[in-house]
Amino acid sequence: MEELLEKIHQLKQHYNAVILAHYYQDPAIQDLADFVGDSLDLSRKARDSDAEVIVFAGVHFMAETAKILNPSKKVLLPDLDAGCSLADSCTGKAFKEWKMQYPDHISVTYINCSAEVKAESDWVCTSANALKVIQAIPEDKQILFAPDKNLGNYLIKETGRNMVLWNGECMVHKAFSMEKLMKLWQQYPAARLIAHPESEDHVIRVAEFIGSTSALLNYVQDSDKDTFIVATEHGILHEMQRRAPEKLLIPAPSKDNNSCACSECAFMKMNTMEKIYECLLHGKPEIQLDESLMKSALRPIERMLSLD
Ligand code: SF4
Repeated sequence: MEELLEKIHQLKQHYNAVILAHYYQDPAIQDLADFVGDSLDLSRKARDSDAEVIVFAGVHFMAETAKILNPSKKVLLPDLDAGCSLADSCTGKAFKEWKMQYPDHISVTYINCSAEVKAESDWVCTSANALKVIQAIPEDKQILFAPDKNLGNYLIKETGRNMVLWNGECMVHKAFSMEKLMKLWQQYPAARLIAHPESEDHVIRVAEFIGSTSALLNYVQDSDKDTFIVATEHGILHEMQRRAPEKLLIPAPSKDNNSCACSECAFMKMNTMEKIYECLLHGKPEIQLDESLMKSALRPIERMLSLD
């Protein structure tokens, strides 16, 4: 492993590359990365980076967003098949047809969608700034929200806005088992449940705190409580434990009887150290997007970033 790390560092220097990693990556990849963050942090880092090559340790829509924000740079995704069940639930064509049924509505899309969908959207948002984006839309306008219906329902409750929702879900966040969660609470009665808003409504309703990956991290770090059940992708526990080493962090149990009793995103975990090395060495797989598509997709992303 040491040897592989050394080779990656050499290649990074040679090609003036930066490695951006999402909190859902394997701990070893998070430790190797120049920057670890959630979708919003990573979008900003990609926009501001002066590296010539961006290696995106995350999933396809994230690397696409990095490319849209930095069209002149080479953006590499270690495994092109690292997709997203949520993004895949909404194709550009289907989204366009759906939008045509609501010509007077403003469309807001969660960043977990393809460049084609972004290009058709008025606004893009992440879970960290979704409330801010919805609140920036005049009260007299109606809203279409895609592709995550769970996040959409949460936003309806929080803002009181009437929104038409696309019927998409994240396979990881819909996998939490309430039955197992209740049993876990009997074992750890003082535990606080914290959840990502992509989780299903029954989890959101019993959660003590709901927030984006960054918000969940800050909450655990700043809380005076010491035991947390964490309802989001398991990878976040690495950074959470690093920031709060004295606290007990328990991944929320999923319906499947997988070995770690937690929820992991199979797409995120397709990235490996070996694939990062290979992609730096060969300069591929590279994200390539049509110029006019990038221009159209940039508009709603920039609108979102202008709220910073
Ligand atoms: S955790 Fe869910 S939303 Fe995130 S990349 Fe995986 S499938 Fe997509």
